[in-house]
Amino acid sequence: MLSLSLDLPEFKVIKQENGSNFHFVVVEKECEEERCPYCGFLAGSVHDRRIRKVRDIALLHKPLYLFIQVRRFRCHNCLEIFSETYDSVKPGCHQTSRFREYLYEQCIDTTIQFVSRKQQIPYSTLERIFYSVAQEKAGEHKEVIEKKRKEIQKTWF
Ligand SMILES: [Zn+2]
Repeated sequence: MLSLSLDLPEFKVIKQENGSNFHFVVVEKECEEERCPYCGFLAGSVHDRRIRKVRDIALLHKPLYLFIQVRRFRCHNCLEIFSETYDSVKPGCHQTSRFREYLYEQCIDTTIQFVSRKQQIPYSTLERIFYSVAQEKAGEHKEVIEKKRKEIQKTWF
């Protein structure tokens, strides 16, 4: 069996299957504890697990799907239930952030229609990804410019 490196350090690989058209990798987050988003306490008791499927950048020209074993925790302090979060996958997204970035770059170099056909992603889905990444980038851009502006202002006045 071919062993592939995911280059996503927050996950450990539980199981890997290389199909003829796809790679499937079952992963779990390395971290054992999560901070409760409601009260800030460290919660260590796992309430349940569910599988979340996300698409990642292709490996050896085959689409790669991650099956993330999402742990839900129950907070000891406030008793709320919450899911763990990831650096490489945003909440509610069906693709890893690096795959979304990749798609965005591809769309810039070609067209949304072309990438949609090549990656076999519905046009409307890809369009949504494209504009959401573009918006994030615009936000980052603004931050960088604003930081620079403050720096310059400090040295001048
Ligand atoms: Zn809590």
